[in-house]
Amino acid sequence: MALTLFVRRPEPVEAPAPELWPEIGETWKPEGISIVERYYNLGHAVVLVYSADRDGYYHLVSCLGCHYLVTRDKSRTYNTRYRLEDAARVANEHASICRALPRELPARPDDDTARRMLHTWVLGLPRRDEDFYLDLWDFDSGRLELQRTNKWMQNELVAFAAERGDVLSAKPSDYGSGINYTVLRQPS
Ligand SMILES: [Zn+2]
Repeated sequence: MALTLFVRRPEPVEAPAPELWPEIGETWKPEGISIVERYYNLGHAVVLVYSADRDGYYHLVSCLGCHYLVTRDKSRTYNTRYRLEDAARVANEHASICRALPRELPARPDDDTARRMLHTWVLGLPRRDEDFYLDLWDFDSGRLELQRTNKWMQNELVAFAAERGDVLSAKPSDYGSGINYTVLRQPS
């Protein structure tokens, strides 16, 4: 009778580990931006509506399937940045026609790489024959790759202005606590 206690039970079969669902942007939170809405396109890739603004007032749209990215409403001549309502409409429209499958999400670059990226953007701005103001939103189209906060960008731009005074100046704004960045005119 006691033997029954030793009857071998079948080895418990361990449940296979759940296969990791590839990250396609459904929960992605890159640094420096706030994601406000997400849509699925026809290939189940995510289309993001996000803001890189301090106030979250203006929005950008980016497809994580194809490389569709809009930062400005080109049909307007002024006030071209998107409020949420317009950005959501544009994202929805894109999602309803795009068939791209999810692409790999951009990895967060290390500080050196991010810094180089920012410097390249500044140096890539076409110089004019007069000085012009630079705003952080001039770099809106790169925020998903840069993955840094506005504060980080500000600090780096100030440092870059100290290093490359021939290209960029950074001075405290006369109003509020911001900084004015100026891309200096092309020397003649
Ligand atoms: Zn797309």
